[in-house]
Amino acid sequence: MTTSIEVKKAQLETAVHYLAGLLEEGSLIQHYDPETRREIAEVLELMLAKVNGLPDNVPDNLVQAAVVRAIVGAAENLHIEEALEREVFLNRQMREVEAFASIHGHTLTGWEPVSGEEGVEYQSSCRECGGFVYVSLSGTYNLLLDSCERM
Ligand SMILES: [Zn+2]
Repeated sequence: MTTSIEVKKAQLETAVHYLAGLLEEGSLIQHYDPETRREIAEVLELMLAKVNGLPDNVPDNLVQAAVVRAIVGAAENLHIEEALEREVFLNRQMREVEAFASIHGHTLTGWEPVSGEEGVEYQSSCRECGGFVYVSLSGTYNLLLDSCERM
């Protein structure tokens, strides 16, 4: 008895989706590096989608090219996600500093992007007292005094 090629393909897809799911959530493979796990899971899902989109009887080198595109696509998707997370984090830091500044009577200038060790960071200062604040991914450096005193 031979299994039809469609059945084998469906079984292989189920297996690969299952593996991608395990890689994403980390059960059974806690010792794998989390970032690499997520990236491989993304590669597998993209690879299934791209291979499904290939015409019948396509040469092997085009199948391999689909895998390469999946690897490149996964890296791009995950970096966009990371960049968004960084932006959300920095924005929350800025809102917290603005709240602190206004409670303590400071009037902040707009946030200015500065380039730091981890990429873009932001600084601002008080128009009245010159007190300075700086937000980065590793935290906030708040040099505003407890009350605003004009220089
Ligand atoms: Zn001030």
